Amino acid sequence: MSFALKKYPCAVCGSADNKFLYTIKNFNIVQCTSCSFVYVSPRISNEDLPSLYTTNYFNNSSFGYEEYELTADLRIKNFAHWYSVVKPYTAKDKGNALDIGCAAGYFLEILKADGWNIQGIELDQAMIEKLKQKNIPAYEKTFEEFPADKKYKLITLFDVLEHLPDTQGSLKKLASILDDGGVIALITPDYNSKQRKFFGKKWFQFKPHEHIHYFSPDTLKRAIEPYGLTVLHHENGGQFADVDFLLNRLERYGFKFLSKIFGGICGLFGWKKKFWYADTGSMFVVLGKK
Ligand SMILES: [Zn+2]
Repeated sequence: MSFALKKYPCAVCGSADNKFLYTIKNFNIVQCTSCSFVYVSPRISNEDLPSLYTTNYFNNSSFGYEEYELTADLRIKNFAHWYSVVKPYTAKDKGNALDIGCAAGYFLEILKADGWNIQGIELDQAMIEKLKQKNIPAYEKTFEEFPADKKYKLITLFDVLEHLPDTQGSLKKLASILDDGGVIALITPDYNSKQRKFFGKKWFQFKPHEHIHYFSPDTLKRAIEPYGLTVLHHENGGQFADVDFLLNRLERYGFKFLSKIFGGICGLFGWKKKFWYADTGSMFVVLGKK
């Protein structure tokens, strides 16, 4: 697939001045000289971006997910854990909940079981079919096009914010559809994380086709402030990983030999089914209205 590339100003402060950081997969990662926000420029144009997400995004070797459904059991554990983090911040009277980029709807199923009135947004055709089979209501266009005619007590964006081209427009819209006492929970790569500092340009979150924006706790705060949003909770974000996941990551970071040895050891000791919650260099943030 070939895409039109285009330069955009900083999505947080609007400045066009930036300094070069890295070249990754022929894309430049740059840092705003005014507010220090890190982003891809030039990047896939706003017009072409949605086409990344409509076909085979969850089963893809060049971008997106390689095999989303094969690790479904780990994903369901993630969602259950993430709900346990956000739930204490939600109101007792549950109302409408919106999951943006809901994929196969695992998180929405957890919410529904706990009494929420659920709504998803998803672009991938294969996932939309799954959602239909499960009777999960899903809007099939972008969040920009989503009609803002309802209020939500809970809005979630798990690994989504870094994909949205119009950060300011999206945050403004999120604030406008957030009900009184409602919360927004999101996970996004943290540019200031230990992982990014350790791995540098090899950090697995650098996926410049689709991860076009890299927030830090500071740039996120700056981005949400104009819309009356405030951070209620902040922690390092992670995901449940098993041995196969770890071996895959070791290989991707170029530790093929180590991966083989570790795989052998795990086989020997019967650890293949073990899993644990691993910090991925993301931040998990709960936002509320001031
Ligand atoms: Zn900036």
